[in-house]
Amino acid sequence: MTGPSTNPRPLTPDPLVDTHVHLNHDDLYADRASVMARAAASGVGVFVVVGYDLASSERAVALAGEDERIFATVGVHPHDAANWGDAAAGRLRALLAAPRVVAVGEIGLDFYRDLSPREAQRAAFVAQLKIASEAGLPVVIHCRDAYSETLDILEGHDPLLPPILHCFQGTLADAERAWTRGWFLGIGGALTFKNGDALRATVRAAPPECLLLETDAPYLSPAPLRGKYPNEPARLALVAETLAAVRGVSVQEVAALTTANARRAFPRLSAEGGYSTSSSRT
Ligand SMILES: [Zn+2]
Repeated sequence: MTGPSTNPRPLTPDPLVDTHVHLNHDDLYADRASVMARAAASGVGVFVVVGYDLASSERAVALAGEDERIFATVGVHPHDAANWGDAAAGRLRALLAAPRVVAVGEIGLDFYRDLSPREAQRAAFVAQLKIASEAGLPVVIHCRDAYSETLDILEGHDPLLPPILHCFQGTLADAERAWTRGWFLGIGGALTFKNGDALRATVRAAPPECLLLETDAPYLSPAPLRGKYPNEPARLALVAETLAAVRGVSVQEVAALTTANARRAFPRLSAEGGYSTSSSRT
């Protein structure tokens, strides 16, 4: 049994990067040592643990402090936007000072569930875009049923670094808007779903440099484990295999490509020297 502080040798020369995983979620957190051991055994070497409110952002930062394979993002999700305000902004800025914070997120708009009023969602989104630019960090975007407005806001804001559109579910036209600007698309379990033909066509047409792998665990288990909760980062291998099949390349090529892309999307993954592809770090 490997503990959370060991760094097992990856199975491929390039460890897969799970660019969006919630090890900070209660349904993965308690069991994280075995969750991470299973992930390592299937070739996942780096975990970007994404915050969605202040408590989960604090926990993401703490996790990044306990294991060198983990990096954190901090932010307030549109679901929680009703709680955004000066106090939340102050706490978020304090968290950004922590080491190994690689992005602000997940932030954005969710007009599907509408758990916070849309005006509050817009205000929290725009405020956090500004905070990210001040901090010199990219943003991880959550978007549901709101692509045109989300892309409008991002274009109007002219972000310092290319945003990451997590769990991309937009149209081909939305995707083209993103990739022509050098933005990133987070590709997860939806790529494997039976009803995922449109997404697969988009991913087939995409320039290779925009593609990132993610699980969004504990959510969105890929096929053939769809609906099996909780999802976990070990299942990133299923997404990588599907991406390889869709693009007509090997899994090794997918690993090399998406890991290089992740390093560009999250410059601090490399700047902090948090992991190495060729040797164990202790
Ligand atoms: Zn998420």
